[in-house]
Amino acid sequence: MIVALSCQATGEEITSILGKIHAQGYKTRLIHGEMKNIVHVIGVTDRERLISSMESLPGVEQLIPIIQPFKLASRECHPENSIIKINETCIGGREIAIIAGPCAVESEASFIETAHLLKKAGVKFLRAGVFKPGTSPYTFQGLGEKGLETLTAVREETGLLIVTEVLSEVDVPLLSHYVDIFQVGSRNMHNIALLKTLGRFNKPVLLKRGFSATIEDWLMSAEYILSEGNPGVILCERGIRTFEKYTAYTLDLSSIPVIHQLSHLPVIVDPSHASGSWRYVEALSKAAVAADADGLLIVVHPDPANAVSHGTQSLKLDKFLDMMKNVRKIAEKMGRSL
Ligand code: PEP
Ligand code: MN
Repeated sequence: MIVALSCQATGEEITSILGKIHAQGYKTRLIHGEMKNIVHVIGVTDRERLISSMESLPGVEQLIPIIQPFKLASRECHPENSIIKINETCIGGREIAIIAGPCAVESEASFIETAHLLKKAGVKFLRAGVFKPGTSPYTFQGLGEKGLETLTAVREETGLLIVTEVLSEVDVPLLSHYVDIFQVGSRNMHNIALLKTLGRFNKPVLLKRGFSATIEDWLMSAEYILSEGNPGVILCERGIRTFEKYTAYTLDLSSIPVIHQLSHLPVIVDPSHASGSWRYVEALSKAAVAADADGLLIVVHPDPANAVSHGTQSLKLDKFLDMMKNVRKIAEKMGRSL
């Protein structure tokens, strides 16, 4: 952190400023300029406390952070891309990860059939919710623990890796036996207790962007997981709220290059929840891969008209297979595989 001192700062004021900084345990370097002096504060851990203790002190003109507030998530502190390993599979490497499946676990028979077809299409990660965080309490809330048995049956039969959403820190220990990747949904991106608990488990976390969160908010949430010791964070862009009404949310594709610049963490894209309509999923998937996304999360259902949740954004299996062929062409152009 740099503290710019005002031109009029007196010797006494400078001594008091340095004293305040040292009292918080930081080292300082006072740099004398031609017009004004600055103080370089070294080793800042609690930036907010430092800023609030300094900003109204006489002699202080401006406080300028020089390191990103999301240290562990930042590329500054970790220049190499993080590759998250899940069994024999990776997210964040050359291969684009495809996470596909219905919005929610429904009947076991149809889920197993869908899972086999997805596997045949090259999908390695199966997604489906058993705890559904609907915006409305009157929509389908998921099968709960009963759905976990179905997830296990499908995992055992197909060998697909399971991605499912966890709503509360209370459910983390139980779910950890059933999932390969925990999903934190958009509505829970700010759930600090959940993030901290997931940080203490040794399983990757797919962290969706809150639909009203800035990229910095999102990376700070990732920081909560990383700072508890879990390095396996996968970011998922799923669209943000804007004034646009023709899509459910607005897919912020610009977050992909921004995340790649700011952070070493992999970033995948969910065009299904972003657009809210199966019609736009292929175009947005191609755009996401062209923008260098590390993966896609696609909602697929064998019979969208009868899906209990999010039928309108669910791709039918045949459409999904066609889409995969077209997305693969873009992936190859990007020097990646799918
Ligand atoms: C989901 O993936 O099923 C979901 C609820 O997504 P989001 O949290 O992005 O709304
Ligand atoms: Mn959904």
